[in-house]
Amino acid sequence: MKDTFKHKGLRQQLVETVKGKGIKEQKVLDAIGKIPRHLFMDSGFLDHAYVDKAFPIAADQTISQPYTVAFQTELLQVKEGSKILEIGTGSGYQTAVLCELGAKVYSIERQLELFKITSKFLPKLGYRAKKLIFGDGYKGLKEEAPFDGIIVTAGAPFVPKPLMSQLNIGGRLVIPVGDDVQVMTLFIRTGLKDFEKHEFGEFRFVPLLEDKN
Ligand code: SAH
Repeated sequence: MKDTFKHKGLRQQLVETVKGKGIKEQKVLDAIGKIPRHLFMDSGFLDHAYVDKAFPIAADQTISQPYTVAFQTELLQVKEGSKILEIGTGSGYQTAVLCELGAKVYSIERQLELFKITSKFLPKLGYRAKKLIFGDGYKGLKEEAPFDGIIVTAGAPFVPKPLMSQLNIGGRLVIPVGDDVQVMTLFIRTGLKDFEKHEFGEFRFVPLLEDKN
């Protein structure tokens, strides 16, 4: 688990790339500049760790593109102490970004293999989520609701109702919606039954699948 000057240098270039694509929030850029993304990837992909691309991880899943991670995180508007639910822990990279921002993070993963690997790995880097859960994110996490923010990091064919109902008033749900291509969508809960909906550009994610493996 090494983090060298070379890695740090490459990481700063990645920060500039992500900034160049329009990410403005300094705290988000700082998190990307700090987190050793190469340690979240299989050793065979080390050379690609600081390229702004998604890459394969275990169980046929992907670590999201850094720009996408930054874009979704910006939309969430995380504050120190915000209670955030993440659906799709995967490599744990997005989880680490949320921890860097001072969020209390709950994260759900449906692939047992990834859940096990990431649950061991994140604390080694000093990232302590409140809870990592092996389960089905379509259901959200009723026992810990409501959340200030919910972020879905897989492509959802539709918006799961439980996620909407587990938001605080003022809370934000960031979810890529669609089958082959997804539209990044932000819902802001403005009242008990009222939501504002905002749509952003198109993105591509691995699918949000139902039930655990
Ligand atoms: N945030 C991750 C992205 C991983 S890709 C990262 O930065 O690495 C999306 C992840 O969502 C995959 O690990 C996949 O297994 C998981 N996933 C898919 N459907 C799910 C569901 N219903 N509940 C929880 N996790 C799910």
